[in-house]
Amino acid sequence: MAGLGWRMRALTGAGAWAAWAVGTTILISTGWQGGGVLAVFFVASTAVSRVLPPKVNAQDAKGDRRDAWQVLANGSVAAGGALFGLAEPALGMWLLTVSLAASASDTWATAVGTWSGKTPRDLRTGLSVAPGTSGGVTVPGTIGAIGGATVVATSGAVVAESLGLLLAGTLLGLLGMAVDSLLGGAAQGRFYCPECERPTERSVHRCGAPAILKKGWRWFSNDLVNFCAIAVAAFTGWAVWQWWP
Ligand SMILES: [Zn+2]
Repeated sequence: MAGLGWRMRALTGAGAWAAWAVGTTILISTGWQGGGVLAVFFVASTAVSRVLPPKVNAQDAKGDRRDAWQVLANGSVAAGGALFGLAEPALGMWLLTVSLAASASDTWATAVGTWSGKTPRDLRTGLSVAPGTSGGVTVPGTIGAIGGATVVATSGAVVAESLGLLLAGTLLGLLGMAVDSLLGGAAQGRFYCPECERPTERSVHRCGAPAILKKGWRWFSNDLVNFCAIAVAAFTGWAVWQWWP
């Protein structure tokens, strides 16, 4: 799958190796059930970005090939959660599904939101922001988020034969997306490239020029925001699991 992702130009070379490590951990920990959920996640996330070309140029996307940091930001919590499956298989599936649902929710929200061309608003302040800005939300993007979380949660619920996982996966997937928007809007580093006179989310712009910090924390990258959002969803999933009948 990782090799195929690289061939299809969905992953960079390092991204493919990271995906291989995440995928192998998930397969060893949760078997074909977890592998199936991962496959659904990967196909759905890749497809939605390909089928819905953005109407507006999302500001400063890294490009549609995922690098190793993006893969680990999205996959390391899922792999870590899956490891619990070695001791308690149902818990491993639960944490894996919740993590991947949160990640898919964010990917689908971005893809559907930028495809719709609607002007996003900052979830915290309610002010309009440029499309693709972290923290910005739109109605179509939110519907997309529900779609992404539901697709992954459904696949987990089917293979784990757990209706509770459908509910938990969908709701906690959306929780992850909400945390992602709040953290992205409040704390993520925002920069400005003086060479290109464009806003950017990277401390070194893609043109190579060092960008000026405008807002947020310099070290708090979009990858780190994704990682934290998924971790919050997974940890909440773990807490719900303790309480679930
Ligand atoms: Zn530049």
